[in-house]
Amino acid sequence: MKQLIPFMMSIILLASCGQNKKQEFVYSVDKFADVEILRYKVNNFDELTLNQKLLVYYLSEAALEGRDILYDQNHKHNLTIRRLLEAVYENYAGDKETADFKNLEIYLKQVWMGNGIHHHYSEDKFTPGFPETFLSAAVNSIDSTLLPLMAGESVETFKARIFPVIFNPDLYKKRTNQEAGVDLIATSANNFYEGVSQKEVEDFYAGMVDPADNTPVPYGLNSKIVKENGKVVEKTYKIDGMYDAAIRRIVGWLEKAAEVVENEQQGAVIKSLIEYYQTGNLEKYDEYSILWLQDVNSQVDFVNGFTESYTDPLGMKATWEALVNFKDMEATKRTEIISNNAQWFEDHSPVDKQFKKEKVKGVSAKVITAAILGGDCYPATPIGINLPNSNWIRRDYGSKSVTIENITDAYDKASQGSGFMEEFIWSDEEIERAKEYGSLTNNLHTDLHECLGHGSGKLLPGVSPDALKAYGSPIEEARADLFGLYYMADDKMVELGLLPDEDAYKAAYYQYIMNGLMTQLTRIQPGKNIEQAHMRNRQLIAAWAYEKGKADKVIELKKRDGKTFVVVNDYAKLRDLFAELLAEIQRIKSTGDFEAAKQLIETYAVNVNQEIHTEVLARYKALNIAPYRGFVNPVYSLVKDNAGNISDVKISYDENYVQQHLRYSKEYSVLPNYN
Ligand code: ZN
Repeated sequence: MKQLIPFMMSIILLASCGQNKKQEFVYSVDKFADVEILRYKVNNFDELTLNQKLLVYYLSEAALEGRDILYDQNHKHNLTIRRLLEAVYENYAGDKETADFKNLEIYLKQVWMGNGIHHHYSEDKFTPGFPETFLSAAVNSIDSTLLPLMAGESVETFKARIFPVIFNPDLYKKRTNQEAGVDLIATSANNFYEGVSQKEVEDFYAGMVDPADNTPVPYGLNSKIVKENGKVVEKTYKIDGMYDAAIRRIVGWLEKAAEVVENEQQGAVIKSLIEYYQTGNLEKYDEYSILWLQDVNSQVDFVNGFTESYTDPLGMKATWEALVNFKDMEATKRTEIISNNAQWFEDHSPVDKQFKKEKVKGVSAKVITAAILGGDCYPATPIGINLPNSNWIRRDYGSKSVTIENITDAYDKASQGSGFMEEFIWSDEEIERAKEYGSLTNNLHTDLHECLGHGSGKLLPGVSPDALKAYGSPIEEARADLFGLYYMADDKMVELGLLPDEDAYKAAYYQYIMNGLMTQLTRIQPGKNIEQAHMRNRQLIAAWAYEKGKADKVIELKKRDGKTFVVVNDYAKLRDLFAELLAEIQRIKSTGDFEAAKQLIETYAVNVNQEIHTEVLARYKALNIAPYRGFVNPVYSLVKDNAGNISDVKISYDENYVQQHLRYSKEYSVLPNYN
């Protein structure tokens, strides 16, 4: 599970304001369409030992080698289209100052941001801002050997085959379709399934899963489903299987990393990951996951593999992602307090006793500094991660949870002075509170969400972890968010020294409701519904609390100067509502109550209030804040001494967004156009 965007992403934080006048580090790198690209700072990299730096370096290379896998998973024509656009962008002989060429550049930047032709968040296909005739002429102007043609394919045939994918708005319009009542596979443009219906896929896996198995592997996690000779078969992602060329490179770097590990446990983690990539065996993957979550002593850590299943409408197939990081020793003290008290939080939560864990196992939590982002963590990246996702591993072994503080930091720094708070927050009192506690409660909520929320509760015996189907993701995210919200207001927070006083939580509550009812709508196109799991969860919680508290006026929507504001009248009652919803959502999860999950999501989480939506879009536009953010990575290079031995690893932040993607497409691109 991952936490995608801080719910107060656009809040200005005064904690670091004022002291930082000379700001030599420029966070904002690029701005296009609805996106701002930021740089993040890898604090204290120079304090790592040479071996640790080398480990970061090799793991970073492994993290970048999987980029093309994700493009292909997102949509089967993505690699072809990216290569086409890059060839035109770099080799076009005509005037590069025309509006058409500039719009082609924006489109290419969007494709990089989405790892394909669909928006990374809304899942909608991008609309090019230039006409087909322009691209056609541009393609004709360059050497045809630079184009990603199929064997023996003419340029004209190529154009006739690929242009509709780019220009026809009705073709492949949605990467992942969550709309109930249709075949989710047929209506999704991702590349996890080909030539099969949803029913065929469900039957295929139903025949594989043993309901009595208490420790099931994550069926279907690392494969594509196709039909061969009329039979449904899996094509597994592995060496000698699908994505062979890229996975070989990943493994090559992992083998180098294995030579510079910090300790034996870390060596065992990397070795088991290599074996999994070699075999595609999911039992091996579970073994790796357990070793990985038990490695709590290493400072350098990583994620590398087919991990999250948000892009699969059936929630089984995982996209490839990577993250290399090292522990922030100072900030980790905060998460250690939380995890050391995990059992207390589990025991005192407002959910029914039968759904609680008698013994919370191994919730390990740390604050980390991201060193490189790859695959589905790049350019858009999570701010918190809790893995593994396997329910039985979490039950029997626990999980590892991280808060990525240098990413949150970059968000905060880039938001300073945006005017967001003054525009959307109702009163000076709440603005003051947001300034004083916003950063703190934001990080704390991420910690609680990741290291307690996802790890809490249990399924009743015999309940399938997939019982909630497409509603599983938003329900799970709501569960984790509510757990965090509920405890944010608990005296225990002040007692443990995590919050300074009984007022701080109100900053988090106000902003959560404001975001869920209003400001997150900036990320939705006019006329569209909410699809993304985290956004659904946030509206679910805010809209449910609004409605259930209506009689008591717990939350109101008030107008001032023609603008709508969220007003929270009763914070204590709001906490009671969070408790009530948490109890219900835990019941739904624990019992696998699909109908109740559907009812909640469809009633509160999907539909957009059109009037407020229009207003929010206009107010954001006036502030000129980009609703989405992505990142560029730093560049690591090896330094050698006179004898030719590696003496250091250098980090630099010079590369811009375009340079980085063009370089990645040259240095880390070994997959064929079609896989
Ligand atoms: Zn989560």
